[in-house]
Amino acid sequence: MTQLDERPVAATDPATDPTSDPAQTWLDSLQAAFAARDVGAATAHFATTCFWRDLVAFSWNITTVEDRPGVVELLSATLDRVDPTDLRLSEPSSSEDGVRTAWFEFATAVGRGRGLVRLVVDDATGREVAWTFLTTLFELSGREEPRGTRRPMGAEHGANRERVTWAERRAAEEAALGTETQPYVLVIGGGQGGIALGARLRQLGVPSLVIDKHARPGDQWRNRYKSLCLHDPVWYDHLPYLKFPDNWPVFAPKDKVGDWLEFYTRVMEVPYWSSTVATSASFDEAAGEWRVEIEREGRPLVLRPTHLVLATGMSGKPNVPVIPGQDVFAGEQHHSSQHPGPDAYAGKRVVVIGSNNSAFDICGALWETGADVTMVQRSSTHIVKSDSLMEIGLGDLYSERALAAGMSTEKADLVFASLPYRIMHEFQIPLYERMRERDADFYARLEAAGFDLDWGDDGSGLFMKYLRRGSGYYIDVGAAELVADGEVKLARGQVDHLTEDAVVLADGTTLPADLVVYATGYGSMNGWAADLISQEVADRVGKVWGLGSDTTKDPGPWEGEQRNMWKPTQQPNLWFHGGNLHQSRHYSLYLALQLTARHAGMATPVFGLQEVHHLR
Ligand SMILES: Cc1cc2nc3c(=O)[nH]c(=O)nc-3n(C[C@H](O)[C@H](O)[C@H](O)COP(=O)(O)OP(=O)(O)OC[C@H]3O[C@@H](n4cnc5c(N)ncnc54)[C@H](O)[C@@H]3O)c2cc1C
Repeated sequence: MTQLDERPVAATDPATDPTSDPAQTWLDSLQAAFAARDVGAATAHFATTCFWRDLVAFSWNITTVEDRPGVVELLSATLDRVDPTDLRLSEPSSSEDGVRTAWFEFATAVGRGRGLVRLVVDDATGREVAWTFLTTLFELSGREEPRGTRRPMGAEHGANRERVTWAERRAAEEAALGTETQPYVLVIGGGQGGIALGARLRQLGVPSLVIDKHARPGDQWRNRYKSLCLHDPVWYDHLPYLKFPDNWPVFAPKDKVGDWLEFYTRVMEVPYWSSTVATSASFDEAAGEWRVEIEREGRPLVLRPTHLVLATGMSGKPNVPVIPGQDVFAGEQHHSSQHPGPDAYAGKRVVVIGSNNSAFDICGALWETGADVTMVQRSSTHIVKSDSLMEIGLGDLYSERALAAGMSTEKADLVFASLPYRIMHEFQIPLYERMRERDADFYARLEAAGFDLDWGDDGSGLFMKYLRRGSGYYIDVGAAELVADGEVKLARGQVDHLTEDAVVLADGTTLPADLVVYATGYGSMNGWAADLISQEVADRVGKVWGLGSDTTKDPGPWEGEQRNMWKPTQQPNLWFHGGNLHQSRHYSLYLALQLTARHAGMATPVFGLQEVHHLR
């Protein structure tokens, strides 16, 4: 099997003899231990240092357990209930540098899963044992998606005086939603996250509704600054079910992304209300449902969903610093999310506060229009050149090269998911060392210009910074050169105050300005819960995002997964969804399966419900 899509896959390649594959022997032996409910024997299949990452299949959670005690804990709590069977290779295993890698499938009491194991030789016994083990659920028995051989007929052949057309059925469904029928799941926020989840829930037969305050799906992207193009390449960005066509640009312009989201919402029949804002929500413990007040095109309505998903965006709640003198500044000032683009600012003096992605994009576009631009760098920034990132960081998994080598998007997602967060930085550090070497001249020029560069606390670069804190970097598509050669002026330090016509830094540097742009990032998604539900519920949930790596802006203790994302929280029936396009695509599946299981009335005992360590 070379292409892994989201449908059930053929068991094995008939051209090979799976029984002779050492990985199948290992799986058979593990299966025997599972069947005997022998936790000790099953655990002996794992290395003393090992990582088992489970996406819903065993734990009804997104969780990673470490080392043999972790495996014992997970299996003791779940083995009886999960009843894993039928573990078999889905393709022959492969070996490199002493690590055997094997893709496999398995069944559980409630569904089917697939996984990826990396086996290493145990020095003490000479036997192969699991070093990393990924198990994922992709399908629930009885709630399979209507795909492939299960696709709907569409036409109803025969003669029927009561015939209801597809359009009539859709119209009736839409008319009843929110009044005669309640959504089981209400997704607040209809950006790429809400839309992808809405599409999955639709396919899984879970009555759902996605609401968004914007007038049209895709406006989240259309309303951003004019020059914005995706920083991630197309192979990384597909939505579930429907991939971008193969003539789609590598870096899609933001309006094109907006149009795709709108088109996708329509053709995937995502129940979606535009111009609808959620104003408050509270959980009725006795009824086990939410009471959500909304305004749909200005008209108030109360919805009563069982589950509430906040897909309100990790880059949606602007962080605007409070600086003395903002009230006396006579020019224009706005957050980067409000920046209209450069056209009105030709010949004007612009000070952009911040030095990450948005700051660079905005500075570059303003410079192209002929503005006099100064960037204020307040703390160090990690920069990688887009082409280096594409080639060294993403190329093996997400590129034409990867596709040609048989790497599908779904398979790439699982490879990425199979690398435990605890050790992911160890794999990332050498990649960023290569980028640093390859672009040494560029970095030397930036530093000579006074720019404060970093590579993440431990040199692990962009992805780890994203996963840990979701900020602090720029994927360079050209604007860094403008800083390096002084075309965009650079000032370093904290902003002390604004005067009527300038930004003044703590060291007294005065930067005359007609426009001040606060490219100062976004607040935690936990803040959405406080705004919409209550501070008490937000505190019960705690920080959303971060791994607990104890690095800058990602305080410990170690969580091992992204805090509160796509998995049960301490607030019953409240979920968070979002992230970049890759995460929205991949993790929407596991969130949708968790919600579907609950809709189907299945027991979903959660193993390892996360504790709360930080309030925001
Ligand atoms: C400048 C910039 C560039 C980026 N570039 C990339 C990139 O190249 N690739 C990538 O993958 N990611 C990128 N991201 C990050 C991230 O993927 C995007 O922010 C993305 O839009 C997140 O999608 P989302 O659906 O989680 O949230 P959003 O797109 O922010 O959508 C959240 C929605 O929630 C709605 N909402 C909020 N509150 C309410 C309420 N009370 N009632 C109703 N609706 C509400 C908002 O109207 C909004 O439409 C970028 C982000 C920014 C800011």
